[in-house]
Amino acid sequence: MRFRLLFLLFFSFRAVAQNADIDLHYANEINTDTLQKTLLVLASDSLQGRESGRTGQKLAAAYLKSVYESRGIPTFQQNHPLNRKTNTAFSMIINDQYFIYYEDYYYYSALPDTVLNLNEIVFSGFGIQSSDYNDFNYTDLEGKSLLVSFTKPEWKKKKSKSFSAPTQQKDLLTYIKSVAGQKPGFLFIAVKDLYQTSLTVQGSFELQKYLQSPPCPIVFINEKAAQRFFGDDDKPVFTDLLTRIEKKCKPKTQAIASRVTIGLKYDTKYLLGDNIMAKIEGSDPNAPAIFISAHYDHLGKRDTLIFHGADDNASGTSAVLEMARVFKKAKDEGHAPLRTLIFLDVSGEEKGLLGSSFYVKHPMWPLEKTMVDLNIDMIGRIDEKYDSLKNGNYVYVIGSDKLSKDLYNIVDSANLRGDQLILDYKYDSPDDPNRFYQRSDHYNFAKNNIPVAFFFNGTHEDYHQPTDTADKIHFDLIQKRTRLVFLTAWHLANRPRPIRLDSVGVR
Ligand SMILES: [Zn+2]
Repeated sequence: MRFRLLFLLFFSFRAVAQNADIDLHYANEINTDTLQKTLLVLASDSLQGRESGRTGQKLAAAYLKSVYESRGIPTFQQNHPLNRKTNTAFSMIINDQYFIYYEDYYYYSALPDTVLNLNEIVFSGFGIQSSDYNDFNYTDLEGKSLLVSFTKPEWKKKKSKSFSAPTQQKDLLTYIKSVAGQKPGFLFIAVKDLYQTSLTVQGSFELQKYLQSPPCPIVFINEKAAQRFFGDDDKPVFTDLLTRIEKKCKPKTQAIASRVTIGLKYDTKYLLGDNIMAKIEGSDPNAPAIFISAHYDHLGKRDTLIFHGADDNASGTSAVLEMARVFKKAKDEGHAPLRTLIFLDVSGEEKGLLGSSFYVKHPMWPLEKTMVDLNIDMIGRIDEKYDSLKNGNYVYVIGSDKLSKDLYNIVDSANLRGDQLILDYKYDSPDDPNRFYQRSDHYNFAKNNIPVAFFFNGTHEDYHQPTDTADKIHFDLIQKRTRLVFLTAWHLANRPRPIRLDSVGVR
């Protein structure tokens, strides 16, 4: 026993000795060229200031996703509402997931503008019946919400004599009328191609006339939305059920418990932002994860004037992307982190932390397994104080000791191992009038008792001005500050025990 223990100690000591500087080795991979490349794209004229919900932000989201994915890092995307008031009146939410009007669904209703909540949906297969097959074989469908698929079934037993295969009406109007004959209170019709279906409606005077005042609200949805009725796992239950019906030639009519909110209202302006999450799985996939976040949205443009937001927050976004690149490289070279690392790029920040606020209410990774959030918002410039001191080697660290002393100590020792910047805790003072602790996305994590550290260079004369441009960015400073966050994340991800939560509640 003793011998084995010594033996193990000897080997683990050797392993540690060999890898003693592995964190610094990878921290030195943080590269000004890649940081600059990302920042120049995000702050360019073509991204139009990245205003949430607008084309520029959508282009930025697509760019971020493509960069992560080109490096073999899987991404997940989440829509979030930008203006809560207009969106509740003009959106469809199925089991906490937002769906986009005209992309995922559209509806026809004779009801006055209203918001409806539905809790039970009856899945009625292909919505057809014949002498020995009936998708409506369910006690009392009247007034219920129905979900049917308008796809032609391919019966597997159709050649056998025992089964006379029912056929689905080829034309949409006859089909809708026959399903509506069951007198449902609400009707969801899933179609393969929503756009094609809308062309069919536009091309038929009869259909249009019928849909102007249908007997109940009729919502056309795509298969992605239909799938969501069955929960949030990755299994395609909806299409699987249809396949099983075709195979066995037996209906699978059933009630599904779902929470659906749908706003029936025309002509309301709706805008959605996009949170992008990228994941590098740790060697212990069940361990709590380390989040590294930054908002990538900015103020957009006023007439022809573009607010580039190079510092706010193309700088933080490029840092997050660069850390993901280096952590992935380390993993590919046999140095996977112990804990999963999650890179979160949120939008809606400039509209009131809306993306992160939606995220913590609808997390894509469990909050109880979220150990910490390291948030970066503006790290490419020098503020007035340090400009007058002629020293850019600093960063304001905010909130790191508020919930966990461990976190404060780790940031501190990561800094000593790395570039030894001045860690300025000035804004941590509870009576600081700027209240920066409450002003970026980490705050929504802190509100959920997740320890946070916020990295920030302070404000400057170009803050929230069209003059916050890429030519004023100090890429060497982004590099140093990113290295600090990187080393902090490395230690958080690899230390034997998760950090301790000392106090609960936002202070
Ligand atoms: Zn910002």
